[in-house]
Amino acid sequence: MEFSSKLLERAVNEMAQLPGIGKRTALRLVLHLLKQPKEQTEQFTSALLKMREEIKFCKKCHNISDVEICDICSNPSRDGSVICVVEDIRDVMALENTGMFKGLYHVLGGKISPIDGVGPSQLNINSLVEKVKSGAVKEIIFALSSTMEGDTTNFYIYKQIKDCEVITSTIARGIAIGDELEYADEVTLGRSLIHRIPFENSLKNM
Ligand SMILES: [Zn+2]
Repeated sequence: MEFSSKLLERAVNEMAQLPGIGKRTALRLVLHLLKQPKEQTEQFTSALLKMREEIKFCKKCHNISDVEICDICSNPSRDGSVICVVEDIRDVMALENTGMFKGLYHVLGGKISPIDGVGPSQLNINSLVEKVKSGAVKEIIFALSSTMEGDTTNFYIYKQIKDCEVITSTIARGIAIGDELEYADEVTLGRSLIHRIPFENSLKNM
């Protein structure tokens, strides 16, 4: 792609680094911004900068939040004895949309994936194990996507907490193998949460 302006080229190259945005789309977006009033670009960039600088991760569940303890963890009507383990904030959003879950979450921040160089120490696993060992948790619900990485992660955590006084379950596999949670519709996802099965039973299918 030949550019008549280095400034334009640089903006397009930056935009094209975003996932799913090719050079052509990046050019279209940048040209769109150029046509809009300058204030719109200022609002756009300041929203991103402010988010990057001020965003926090909840000290209890590691969900993205504007405050130290997120709205879900600080809500007194939620049941802190049931914890749903998810990969990232998109899963929290998907499960919250079902309106079926009244417990708390634990956001791992990814899945164990040796190919991508992600080991257990890079994820929020220790804090989950500590939470369980403290005795305050009655049930752990694994709600990771049913991929090999998801299963590996579930099993890794399960091994560390299986001797604790805690029920471990996994959401029903109404969600097809390999599907990501965030793409499941609310009814399917809500149902798979209600019809969750003991984690040991899911191991027999592995
Ligand atoms: Zn939280």
